[in-house]
Parts: sequence; C-alpha cells; structure tokens
Amino acid sequence: MASQHSRTVREQKTVEAMIGIYCREQHATGDGPCAECEALAEYARLRLQKCPFQQNKTTCTKCPVHCYKPEMRKKVRAVMRYAGPRMMFRHPVLAFLHVLDGLSRSG
Ligand SMILES: [Zn+2]
Repeated sequence: MASQHSRTVREQKTVEAMIGIYCREQHATGDGPCAECEALAEYARLRLQKCPFQQNKTTCTKCPVHCYKPEMRKKVRAVMRYAGPRMMFRHPVLAFLHVLDGLSRSG
C-alpha cells in the first residue's frame, strides 16, 4: 500500500528541488534558496497541504481550483520552465514531466 498522499509529497519534493536549482543558478545565493525562493517553496507547500484533491489530484496546473495566486503562479512557472529540463539529467524521475506539460499549455 502506498503511503498516504505520496503523490502530494512527491510533487512537493519536485517543486522544492526545482526551486533549488533555479535559485542556485539564477540568484546565486550560495547555500540554500534566497528569501524569495524560500517563500515560493513555502507557498507551494501550503497549497499542496490545503489541496482538496490530495491523492486524486491531477497536477496543479490542470487542477480546476487554480489555487495559486497569479503572482505565485507566474513565479513557479518560471522556475519549472528553467529547472524542469535540467532536472531530467540529474534525476531519472519523470514525475514532474506532466507538470511541465501542463504548464507549457496553460496561460
Ligand atoms: Zn532565489
């Protein structure tokens, strides 16, 4: 049996990893994400925790609720566009591909 909300946890880890890559290469803060990226990661974490769909959710971008504020949505999309392709080389994990897919088609 899969652990509870494993999909949500995975999405959260994916988002955080992408924010980490983005911040390290775009903001060059040295260790750890800068305040802005930390806030974005925290925001993503909260949204996922409050997500009414949890296990059954699709990706956030395909979600009918669209719980991200436009400002945060814009930021997270920039992060995913940047870090998504880079992550593919580091992590043989394709879990985030559907996220990218959704982002590239929306808005
Ligand atoms: Zn940053």
